[in-house]
Amino acid sequence: MGTGSSGSAARRSRPDGPRVHVLRVGHRAGRDPRLTTHLALVARAFGAERMYLHPPDPQIAAGLAGVVERWGGPFEVVPAPSWRAVLAGAGAPVVHLTMYGEPLARLLPRLRRAPQLLLVVGGAKVPAALYGAATYNVAVGSQPHSEVAALAVTLRELRGLPGSRPFPGARQRIVPQARGKKVRLVGRSPT
Ligand code: SAM
Repeated sequence: MGTGSSGSAARRSRPDGPRVHVLRVGHRAGRDPRLTTHLALVARAFGAERMYLHPPDPQIAAGLAGVVERWGGPFEVVPAPSWRAVLAGAGAPVVHLTMYGEPLARLLPRLRRAPQLLLVVGGAKVPAALYGAATYNVAVGSQPHSEVAALAVTLRELRGLPGSRPFPGARQRIVPQARGKKVRLVGRSPT
């Protein structure tokens, strides 16, 4: 799927489930920065390696690059002037998350066997052509909710729950606490 797979990306890909890239369509620069940032944060934290952003928004990409610098990767936000070009170059099944699709539970066994997947999430409006262009249209429940929730639940099913280990290349990590906050530079033992 596309370019940019690193050794650490390959190590993270299996046995934790398929390698996943995400495509966010329908981003509205100036109106959706927080929601689209949350999508990218969820994609990274739950094991995706890349989020294509259509239309592109350099501010979102820069913000996530800062997160990766501090908290590790691999993860990148890639500008996508054309969502059709991302689908054409995916080299992997295209899984469009939509409330109108087939139930996730029904498709999970097939999705888990794929080496790679492109998960597509929409925004306020979804191009009608996407439903026909996708390999699968998949619903996380047949009720309207949110692209962030749909992505988190699907990634959790495909790749499991993220643990508390720091990601490769992290400069800092969280030391889980029953109360309070503890953040340590990577390589230093907690005190
Ligand atoms: N009317 C839109 C549609 O065609 O799905 C719903 C827009 S919703 C505010 C934004 C995005 O959230 C959708 O494009 C989809 O990716 C995701 N989404 C919302 N509910 C979902 C569900 N039940 N299952 C899967 N994805 C969902």
